[in-house]
Amino acid sequence: MLFSRGKKASVVYTLGAKVLRQKAERIAGVTPEIRQMAADMLKAMHDFDGIGLAAPQYGQSLRLVVFDVPSRGNSGSPGEMILLPQMPVTVINPEIIWSSSDTNVAEEGCLSLPQIYAEVERPERVLFRADTLDGEHIEIECGGLLGRCIQHELDHLEGVVFTDRANDAEKRRIRGDMDNLLKSGQGNNYRRIKK
Ligand code: ZN
Repeated sequence: MLFSRGKKASVVYTLGAKVLRQKAERIAGVTPEIRQMAADMLKAMHDFDGIGLAAPQYGQSLRLVVFDVPSRGNSGSPGEMILLPQMPVTVINPEIIWSSSDTNVAEEGCLSLPQIYAEVERPERVLFRADTLDGEHIEIECGGLLGRCIQHELDHLEGVVFTDRANDAEKRRIRGDMDNLLKSGQGNNYRRIKK
């Protein structure tokens, strides 16, 4: 137990960091360290104005994700009805066990790819399964912004970022920005820090 913690700076890793390209490990049990990491990740997500953050973005190759998805744009799926009022939500070992064949296209961004936005096609709804920090089991269909955010964050656990899923025209459009991001990230060891 830490008795004096002081003010911790918030860190988010950016594209170019190895941890963002690794497959994250399952979490065997919820320890005080895991709870602390989740709390620190929530703070980092809020400091950088994100709506979701996966542990690899925080430099930890573990299957933990925090969400704070806003209620606007609620498409009325069961998962949104249940989870949006509970935000922020932390999940461990999340999985997508089914995806709809219906897809839609929307613009995405990512705290690990600052200033970069691209349209990404994804399934409209997914069946989402995860555990909470308190050992509660979730298995629910999610659509809307939450469904998209879940897919985006779970990609991070596989070492995938949203621009990997953009079509060729989008990839061409953002190529210069991606090169600049990699170049500028190198000088900061691929980290954004907010004190
Ligand atoms: Zn992201």
